[in-house]
Amino acid sequence: MLNPTVHLKQEDNQVLKLTTHELYQRIEQHTQMPKQKLSPNKFEQQLILKNPTSETLCAEYIIENLEVVELNPLLGNPSYIIEFDINIRALEESFGLDKAEVIMEYSTDLLGTSVALNDNIQVELTSEVVSNSYQLVAFDAAPNKVGVTLQRTSGSIPLIISNNTTEIYHAAIQVQNYSPNEILQLTVDENFDVSTCQISDGVISNLLCNIYSEDVTGVISDFFMPVITGISPTSTTAGTRSLLTITGNNFGSPRGDSEIHFTVLDGFGSQWAAPLSDDYTNWSDTEIQVLVPSYAKIPGTFDSEVNSTTLQKPGTGEIRVNKVIAGISQASINNPNVEIQYSVGNDKRFISSGLFAGQPQILTRQGNNGEYFVRFSDEFRFESPSVERRVSDVNETYVEIATEVINEWQCLTGLNFVIDPAPWTPDGSGNYLCLGQNVIGLHFVVNPDPNITAIMNGLARFYDNTSCPVIGIDIEPDFLRCGEINVFGDEFDSDAENTKEKFYNALLHEIGHTHFINHVSSATELMRVSLFQGQTATITENARAASLYIQAASLNNFGECQNGLYVSNPCYNAVETVSQNPSHFFDIYSNSENIVIQNHDLKLLNHVRIFDVTGRLINEYSVNQSNNTVFLPRIKNKGIFIVSITDSDNLLYSFKINQL
Ligand SMILES: [Zn+2]
Repeated sequence: MLNPTVHLKQEDNQVLKLTTHELYQRIEQHTQMPKQKLSPNKFEQQLILKNPTSETLCAEYIIENLEVVELNPLLGNPSYIIEFDINIRALEESFGLDKAEVIMEYSTDLLGTSVALNDNIQVELTSEVVSNSYQLVAFDAAPNKVGVTLQRTSGSIPLIISNNTTEIYHAAIQVQNYSPNEILQLTVDENFDVSTCQISDGVISNLLCNIYSEDVTGVISDFFMPVITGISPTSTTAGTRSLLTITGNNFGSPRGDSEIHFTVLDGFGSQWAAPLSDDYTNWSDTEIQVLVPSYAKIPGTFDSEVNSTTLQKPGTGEIRVNKVIAGISQASINNPNVEIQYSVGNDKRFISSGLFAGQPQILTRQGNNGEYFVRFSDEFRFESPSVERRVSDVNETYVEIATEVINEWQCLTGLNFVIDPAPWTPDGSGNYLCLGQNVIGLHFVVNPDPNITAIMNGLARFYDNTSCPVIGIDIEPDFLRCGEINVFGDEFDSDAENTKEKFYNALLHEIGHTHFINHVSSATELMRVSLFQGQTATITENARAASLYIQAASLNNFGECQNGLYVSNPCYNAVETVSQNPSHFFDIYSNSENIVIQNHDLKLLNHVRIFDVTGRLINEYSVNQSNNTVFLPRIKNKGIFIVSITDSDNLLYSFKINQL
């Protein structure tokens, strides 16, 4: 049995074809609508009962090319018509058509009543029917039923109906009460509503077997392409669970397979990026709400199919609604742009069978001062065993420039990176591995993929499936385990290439990646995809905001994965390096009145900071003295505290004291 075809269109160049079967599939997804039994329908069942054998000539009628067409849409008061063709074919032997009559029941809410009497229906013969051979008449069989009769004129040659579908007439019914949520219905499901007469050797007889293949029903808005009339906000951030609200019409509901499409970051991968299913928080015919993701998928694919190669990253640009009904897409056009100011990495987490969600990624930390350690490999530090690597133009070492870069991040964002003098060392096989929680390693390698024209890469490695509750976020985050930055040596192997600007700019950008900041589509951002040339990169306001977002999300986590609170570390104008032997230089204890620092080496003390065991900064002193003994006030409470001293070289000495 042929499926009737329905054309959905609003403009001539935007035609969507649906069979009624597909429409029914769609309708069955509308849980608020009563489900209708499709096949065999009531009429067909009766035919089967009446015609148990196939000896009787049989004809099948179908509705095809059903369209809802908007007329004069530019005049502000649009009107709509529903157009369709009535087609016929012989299911067995060909026959000469004498008469065809179809009576259809329709939705009066949408089309009004007595459409023939009210002159709201026009019918016309199609080109396949010789116009002077047949007459066509529409009549009201009931207030909610319209009949159309095709009658051969006396003496004319009958049209031969074969097994191929023949279009016999085209009908257009004016819509009286347009409403996007109204259900359009055209039904032929009663006995004797379809009749056909054949003519053979001048003898006219009824065809007892007439099949009306399927009825047509659909929500009227499904017939129109989605239109976006507004988005809010127009500027947002990705991967931060920011909610974007899209308003408009004809989005279809429920969502089903429909998607929001973001423009892909700087044209990488496919053209569009679709959020994971769990990122949609609301989808109605007129409003969609979606969490703007940084982890998205290729449109039309399953959440489970996203991986590191199919991952799509949304960027600034056009956003559209792609309505999918029964696998057929209808995308909105003339769409607004959304700006993504910054993008924070998130990831996909398996929730339960078939369900994946975008995960926030946040920092944990190792040190009691809330610090993250930075280590250098010997390859990064040294060109040969006793020669430090330097840039060619200003003769600074890589370590000096890296220290400057880390200091800039620390000063502008409070991100508490400290340089750990312990080298980043390979395992027995020569591989550099994540060593310890929150250690960011800097390494010097040959570009593993010469086809990629990167000069460095920065990678964040996170713990999978770590269960830690986060306040204000209803989805468990992934935590930073460690990060690595690889400097591709072959990009710096000539004097012309080995410049401070190039090295500094790239490293500033890569440090962003190591704490989950993603690229954005912008020519002026630190986190732009391609590197700056001819100017010194800075931490832009959006890069800073991204870092602060990650730090705040981390601060709000009180789970077992976090060693206490993150401490927003003020800028000390130079990066601190952890002293390997703090007790060689200082002894610290607390008595009934003071915290006493014994300064064995008469170092110039710069700052002293005191933290509680959760990492919260309790007190901070600018000391600036090199006395043998330094007295600081006792802390109000009893318990264990961390005292952290920096000297004039910004070496950091940390001690635990127990104040009784
Ligand atoms: Zn990058």
